[in-house]
Amino acid sequence: MVMEKISEGKTKEVFLLDKDHVLLRFKDYVTAGDGAKADIIDGKGVLNAQTSALLFRLLEREGIETHYVGMKDERTMIAKRLNMIPVEVVLRNYATGSIVKRLPIKEGEIFDPPIVEFFLKDDARHDPLLNYHHMRYLKLMNEEEARYIEGIVQRVNAVLTKVVERLNLVLYDFKLEFGRLGNKLLVGDEITLDAMRVREPQTQRILDKDLYRRGYPLEHVKSAYEEFLGRLRNVV
Ligand code: C5P
Repeated sequence: MVMEKISEGKTKEVFLLDKDHVLLRFKDYVTAGDGAKADIIDGKGVLNAQTSALLFRLLEREGIETHYVGMKDERTMIAKRLNMIPVEVVLRNYATGSIVKRLPIKEGEIFDPPIVEFFLKDDARHDPLLNYHHMRYLKLMNEEEARYIEGIVQRVNAVLTKVVERLNLVLYDFKLEFGRLGNKLLVGDEITLDAMRVREPQTQRILDKDLYRRGYPLEHVKSAYEEFLGRLRNVV
């Protein structure tokens, strides 16, 4: 059966399964710098699909609604068809990445409470930071929805922080995307090491896409993703 491809991003293809469901096929691409750098890591799509599936199931068990329905095959997720909001919602527990470049904040500073930021999904503009006024003007979401999403992201943080701790790792930050289904807002997209930073607390060893961003060999990136998924399978 030939399925209609309704969209394709840097790391996933989206196919229409039926009027209410899509298939998300995770590709083997790894990219950084808004697509400026791209490579293929054989098997990465499977690792990310599996990692996402475990973490979405965990969120669902904790009562957080996501688009996750099940798996079609090892790299293809069945998901509820959402009307995606082109906004990346980032939660930061520890300072690293773009925030230490943008603001007078030092690497490793602890955010308590965590900081939540919204960015427009727009590679050509390097995903600019948004506030509630921008989001309302651009018809992305109103302030009430933004505050609701902040609450969901904090609940996701509580769940992810706990599970990452059980892997003897620390959750620095992560990114979620949301979509509308009727009058509901659900967590969509993926939850993988491409969109989340985790480090070993003592050594500061990195196990996420920062390895790729920093130019480590592709095999090294893959083995970190494999190790994380292996550890995750032992605890969820
Ligand atoms: O680059 P920055 O520090 O803003 O990233 C914050 C978090 O959001 C990181 O976990 C990163 O992997 C994720 N992110 C993402 N997609 C982007 C930008 C950031 O998943 N386009």
